[in-house]
Amino acid sequence: TPLTPADLDRLDWDKSADGLLPAVVQDAATLQVLMQAWMNRDALAETLESGEATFWSRSRQARWRKGESSGNRLRLVEVLADCDADSLLVSVRPAGPTCHEGLTSCFGEENAPGLGWLARLEQIIASRRGGDESASYTARLLAEGPMRIAQKVGEEGVEVALAGVAGADRRLVEEAADLLFHLQVLLCARDMTFEAVTDELRRRTVRPAPS
Ligand code: AMP
Ligand code: ZN
Ligand code: ZN
Ligand code: ZN
Repeated sequence: TPLTPADLDRLDWDKSADGLLPAVVQDAATLQVLMQAWMNRDALAETLESGEATFWSRSRQARWRKGESSGNRLRLVEVLADCDADSLLVSVRPAGPTCHEGLTSCFGEENAPGLGWLARLEQIIASRRGGDESASYTARLLAEGPMRIAQKVGEEGVEVALAGVAGADRRLVEEAADLLFHLQVLLCARDMTFEAVTDELRRRTVRPAPS
């Protein structure tokens, strides 16, 4: 469960002599690991109070709110502690590139890995809204509105079905990609998010843990 200021005392601050816990920072939408830094008690308290990821800089020996000079702040979603309370997982929504060298992630991967790409694609689709319709198929689709997009979703659904019964593996992959893309555009046109869909799927699957 997400940490609150009341949990500060139950974390294992004495594990290392400098009173620091490693903080792994993850993009809440794409699940990409963005960076790793350190938090002392004050930095975590400030993170929870301000809603922006704040660390302890070992090189500068100072508290450091990420983005204070670059503007690339990390808006807090939640902080989790690990099983023995000596490590932190910080879930954020980044305002820009997290690495000070300009990449999305300090671990060098520009694009979200695996299924995280669906979340990244959703951001890209949203960014095309109102854009140049001659340069972007997505901008054009969005401008045409939900009726036209829904028609495309229907067509791609049929193409997936046909490829599923009588197409090569490659064909099925391509048609499934077409369907997911147009479905995401439709959700965007209706001001909805893919996360609402995954939440619904989770709701159907996850049963409460026995108490
Ligand atoms: P910022 O917090 O983005 O305003 O950057 C201020 C300074 O913090 C930079 O000049 C770096 O020294 C350091 N810094 C920023 N982002 C990172 C990061 N992801 N990992 C390590 N150091 C960072
Ligand atoms: Zn641990
Ligand atoms: Zn970096
Ligand atoms: Zn197709």
